[in-house]
Amino acid sequence: MVELRDVTKLYGDVAALRGVSMDIGHGELVGVVGPSGSGKSTMLNMIGTLDRPTGGTVRIAGHDVGSLTDKQLSALRANVIGFVFQQFHLAAGVPALDNVADGLLYAGPSLRERRRRAYDALVRVGLGHRLGHRPHELSGGERQRVAIARAVVGEPRLLLADEPTGNLDSRSGAGVMELLRELHAAGTTVVVITHDRDIAASLPRQVEMLDGRVVVGAGART
Ligand code: ADP
Repeated sequence: MVELRDVTKLYGDVAALRGVSMDIGHGELVGVVGPSGSGKSTMLNMIGTLDRPTGGTVRIAGHDVGSLTDKQLSALRANVIGFVFQQFHLAAGVPALDNVADGLLYAGPSLRERRRRAYDALVRVGLGHRLGHRPHELSGGERQRVAIARAVVGEPRLLLADEPTGNLDSRSGAGVMELLRELHAAGTTVVVITHDRDIAASLPRQVEMLDGRVVVGAGART
């Protein structure tokens, strides 16, 4: 699902990634750990094709990202990859149902179909009773569930989560992790950055980063 080879990323004279080679197989659940500034988010952005590497190759679901046009990259992101962020990134003032339905805008089904699938996704994350609630009317844990519903409404094969429990109390965080486990059990490949050692230790595979390199766990398990 993911193949990184000698990936480097420079921001000016800061080397965020210094030659990362790593594989993630289909259906894995992987925790990415490491100190702040070690390159975790930068690596996730490379996997998510949100940014292009300075050097090296990134292959996602068999596609060499460097050889794709911007339009092809957008299609890859829309069809294959879902994102969840620490800050939720929901549209303010927009009901949960439409926040999730908007996750299908690029894929192009009708509004009615988008809402039908958004409803299913919200039920799946346990929020079938919060369809009309706007983000400010939801708890942090519920907001992150809406964000996860939006990320998975298009049924991506690869779900990337950057500190998804970082803004949540431990109980809500545990609920969000449980949800990620369920998605993994249903076949989705899940990559989750976490600074929480207990969460990381509970995952089947850990990738450890230090100073822009993967120092432990670079090999795929499947
Ligand atoms: P982590 O997620 O492990 O905290 P990051 O990937 O965010 O680490 O950052 C790795 C390094 O790259 C840090 O030194 C950070 O300051 C730098 N960096 C990340 N993004 C940018 C950017 N957009 N511009 C400049 N420097 C950046």
